[in-house]
Amino acid sequence: MPKVLLVEDNPGDARLIIELLREADDLSDRYEVATVTRIADAITDLEEANNYDLILSDVSLPDSSGIDTLRALNEAAKDIPVVFMTGTNNEALAMTAINTGAQDYIVKGTADSESLLRTFKYAAERKKYQNELRQVLESEKASQERIRLLAEQKQQLMKLNKSKDDFISIASHQLRTPASSVKQYIGMVIEGFAGELNEKQQQLLHKAYESNERQLNVISELLKTAQLDSSKVKIDLKNTHVNEIIKGCVSELYPTLELRHQEVKMKLVEDDIVSIDQDEFKLVLANLLENASKYSQKYKTITITSELKYHHILIRVKDQGVGINKQNQKRIFDKFSRIDNELSDTVMGSGLGLYWAKRIMKLHGGTLKVESELGKGSTFIMEFPHE
Ligand code: ADP
Repeated sequence: MPKVLLVEDNPGDARLIIELLREADDLSDRYEVATVTRIADAITDLEEANNYDLILSDVSLPDSSGIDTLRALNEAAKDIPVVFMTGTNNEALAMTAINTGAQDYIVKGTADSESLLRTFKYAAERKKYQNELRQVLESEKASQERIRLLAEQKQQLMKLNKSKDDFISIASHQLRTPASSVKQYIGMVIEGFAGELNEKQQQLLHKAYESNERQLNVISELLKTAQLDSSKVKIDLKNTHVNEIIKGCVSELYPTLELRHQEVKMKLVEDDIVSIDQDEFKLVLANLLENASKYSQKYKTITITSELKYHHILIRVKDQGVGINKQNQKRIFDKFSRIDNELSDTVMGSGLGLYWAKRIMKLHGGTLKVESELGKGSTFIMEFPHE
């Protein structure tokens, strides 16, 4: 049964309302009515019980009148519809009641049972919609706040990312100059510019030279990554006989291949003119060849093939090395993704090569993919447009 809190200090008026609601019983709507005479009691009642379906209140009470009554009840009622009663036909006060949050008002002495019930029903409906609207607005506000927070976090992350890129760029620039000088001076000593060296001295200096080479490689990889991340790499496309570039990269790797007793076989298409940035392309291919060699055991073969397919050229670098499992294939193109395998303890690397290689291929409008099986070798496939 719906419960009404009737706030009315005039016993006659209260009786009349109760009477009207009793008559409403015959109209099949039963209301249970609790009556209080002061605003303070109404507020206490609402705080303690708060199980009313509607509040019907006189505007003028012994401890509150006019706008104060409206405000106090609306504040205490929160989700409950409030209907006010005014003694006279006071439009101004009625509008204030609605603006303060009341759902409706009635003029004392004018309501009959039926109109009172109708007022109650409309008030309940209006309050329901108001509550729903308030909830929607509140959740909308919460979403806006979340969006604002996310935007703020993104801004902070971008700032952090930028300072990290700047750090890598500055650090690697600063490291490259002294490391290059070391290489030059060790080279000069090995060549005999500072006098003849005995065998032991030669050996030690060669070791120093190789370590320095590796250091310079890591510095170059860091620099390349920083340049790509800050969009400083500009691709300068030129029609090129790509077979020549491939052969050039292979001959540069010969000393390493000889040391590892590995060989490279090539099967290249004749129609080999492609539009590439020669320097950047060389870096990518050299990196793939270097990986194919360093992640393969001695005496293995690396095969480079090319193929034309639907206005695209595919260059495959296939090795017989350690291979990569499916799970790790997803990660190898990420930044700093060194993945352990049976040879990774013996070879140096930064985990950056494939990251920037893929980015460079993308700048060419191409792709870099891998096909591999653990223990059975890998094939890296470069694909890019071909006229
Ligand atoms: P790095 O070789 O410096 O670690 P890369 O970005 O070139 O970095 O390669 C990332 C990882 O991918 C390597 O650590 C290695 O585990 C794996 N990988 C790359 N090329 C090969 C390959 N040809 N065969 C097996 N694993 C490879």
